[in-house]
Amino acid sequence: MNDELRELYQEVILDHNKRPLNYGPLPDSNHDGDGRNPLCGDHITLHLKLQDGQIADVTFEGEGCAISRASASMMTAAVKGKSLAEAEVIFQQFHDLVTGKRELTEEELDAMGKLAVFAGVHDYPARVKCASLAWHTLNAAIAGSDQPVTTE
Ligand code: ZN
Repeated sequence: MNDELRELYQEVILDHNKRPLNYGPLPDSNHDGDGRNPLCGDHITLHLKLQDGQIADVTFEGEGCAISRASASMMTAAVKGKSLAEAEVIFQQFHDLVTGKRELTEEELDAMGKLAVFAGVHDYPARVKCASLAWHTLNAAIAGSDQPVTTE
C-alpha cells in the first residue's frame, strides 16, 4: 500500500469510528442480524427495512474495534437505497478487495468510493474478519437467518 492510501485508510477509519453513519435502533426494521468476531471481540447488530426488493433503510449497533465499526458505518451508507442485487454485487467486490482474491478494475474501485480504502486491510489478515463482519451479517439478515453469524 502506498503512503497516500495508508493515510487515507487511517483517516477514513478513524473518522467513521468516531462518527458512525446510520448508528442506532431502527423501529420499523423487518430483518435483523447479529454478527460476532470472537477473535477481536467485535459484535454488530444490523437492522434492515426491506421493501420491494430494496434496502429501504439500514442501521447498526454494536461494540468493536475501529475497523469493524467503520466498516459497518460505510456499509450501511453504501447499501442504503440499493436493490438486493446491487448490494450483492458490492458485497462481492468488497470481499474480493479485502481478501485480495482478485484485483478490482479501476471502474469497480471508482464505483466503491471510500469503501476502496479497505484494500488496506489486505495487509493485515487478522483485520479482514473485522472488516468483513458487517457484510456477512448483512447477508444473514437479508436471508432471514435467526442464527448469529460468527467469523470463526
Ligand atoms: Zn475487530
